[in-house]
Amino acid sequence: MTLTVETFSFAVKTKGNCDIIDITDAVEKIIQENNFLEGNALVFISGSTAAITTMEYEPGLLKDYPKLFEKLIPENESYHHNFTWHDGNGHSHLRASLQKSSFTVPFKNSKLLLGTWQQIILVDFDNRSRYREVIVQLIGIKETE
Ligand code: ZN
Repeated sequence: MTLTVETFSFAVKTKGNCDIIDITDAVEKIIQENNFLEGNALVFISGSTAAITTMEYEPGLLKDYPKLFEKLIPENESYHHNFTWHDGNGHSHLRASLQKSSFTVPFKNSKLLLGTWQQIILVDFDNRSRYREVIVQLIGIKETE
């Protein structure tokens, strides 16, 4: 029994402005295509205006989630960041910082141990459309041939 570490990535195009994308299947596919049986999947997004987390991916929450962040960190406040770069996305950075950039999920029998109504989501808080790179690092036991 040997522990293996392998790192993968895939690209996602987003619309920005709190766009929420379900990436569960893409992560599970990587586990299965690379013959991992049991371990941990670290899902990370590189970039300071996007986040990875989990929720039930359903139409109501897709509206509630952006509403929550507008309440916590409103877009039209004055942010020092906007005076530094004039890119108008101070709120995007703060939201991403709060939500964090990675999420770890255990897997067994090559399946993510998520609840039935629990998905892994990528949230793009930036104020424009972006191409994002999602990194998936697997640590675990592989099928032996
Ligand atoms: Zn910025």
